[in-house]
Amino acid sequence: MTVPKLLHIRLRSAAEGQVRSGHPWVFEKSIQEQSRSGIAGEVAVIFDGKNRFLAAGLYDPHSPIRVRVLHCGKPQVIDPSMLAVRLLESLERRRELQDAGTNGVRLVHGENDGLPGLVIDRYASTLVLKLYTSSWLTWLPGLIQTLIAMTPSPERIVLRLSRNLQELLLNQPGHQDGHMLHGPTPSEPVRFRESSLWFEADVLRGQKTGFFLDQRENRQHVETLSAGRDVLNAFSFSGGFSLYAARGGARSVTDLDISAHALEGARRNFALNTENKAIASIHHETVQANTFEWLAQTNRQYDLIILDPPSMAKRETERERAIEAYQHLAALALKRLRPNGILVAASCSAHVTVDEFFDTVREAGLQDKRQMKELRTSQHPKDHPATFRQAAYLKCIVLQSMPMTRNS
Ligand code: SAH
Repeated sequence: MTVPKLLHIRLRSAAEGQVRSGHPWVFEKSIQEQSRSGIAGEVAVIFDGKNRFLAAGLYDPHSPIRVRVLHCGKPQVIDPSMLAVRLLESLERRRELQDAGTNGVRLVHGENDGLPGLVIDRYASTLVLKLYTSSWLTWLPGLIQTLIAMTPSPERIVLRLSRNLQELLLNQPGHQDGHMLHGPTPSEPVRFRESSLWFEADVLRGQKTGFFLDQRENRQHVETLSAGRDVLNAFSFSGGFSLYAARGGARSVTDLDISAHALEGARRNFALNTENKAIASIHHETVQANTFEWLAQTNRQYDLIILDPPSMAKRETERERAIEAYQHLAALALKRLRPNGILVAASCSAHVTVDEFFDTVREAGLQDKRQMKELRTSQHPKDHPATFRQAAYLKCIVLQSMPMTRNS
């Protein structure tokens, strides 16, 4: 048997500089030369203009991101044991985030944990492994082995695939979205805890991996702001923010989402937490509607409004339109806010920068002619680190409208 020679790649000089400075992506158009055509998952070794080792990564012939860099610097062998060490380091970084009250956490956040294109979320004893590149498929057995050896050992591991991968693997048996990599298929959504609240995640079919773990800290902040307030949780999904608001003593909570399935999830999550008196007794309502349309036509008023829409800019060309939509949304929400009311506005569009988003929401406040006090801004939580510009998607700003002064 002839062993194919390692795939060698040389980059255009701008891309070479980017990789050298730690950027994890090599696009197809940045490749100047490659020794042969590559196959999904094989190691590509990148050499610099002077023929010296620069980096190594996983090759993906199906993606415009042709190589996802695993290592840059001195020559390094990429093999299952190197990847196992990466994985264990990533798990170790999350150790202190987990305890009896929180067993829903992101264990691996792709590029930002040195495992590009790979996400692993933990929901109690279930792990969800989500792939964004087919290059991980050949490495899966080693990863699974490392995960099963964790303490405590996971009861099951679910495979989830990005939309692109679902299409690519459509007619290929073995690796389908929602398949079990280990353990039994769950017969219902998986129950887990976050900040001592109970939640469910539909790990087989739900959005992302079944829950939005990245908003944990913003939800904790909302809990501290909610006492005595009528709360509107727009784009509520399964009511994450609402449970915290209810426990924080809100007077009422309204979950607003376009998806009936998401609202059903919110009702189930409220039902799971009735041991808490504030949650058991709160007035909880669900409204199935498009937030933009509903806010424009309602005359209801709230003391705390949360806006956490899905990404509005999936690509750079949608950036300007997204900024306009964010401003419009904040303006609509401000109209429904009582004096002293609080607006919590979040964005998960990586193409809209932190400053652009914060300024957009502040501008909506200025145009509303109210005096707004900025209570807080936040970005990525510890289990969702952002180590390069394109990875920084999450931002959240909290503004409170101030009482009118006599002269205003
Ligand atoms: N805040 C949630 C996550 C929100 S995800 C949490 O903490 O878990 C975005 C949600 O917005 C999804 O549930 C989706 O169904 C909903 N959505 C998308 N477009 C919408 C629209 N135009 N109006 C209302 N909801 C929308």
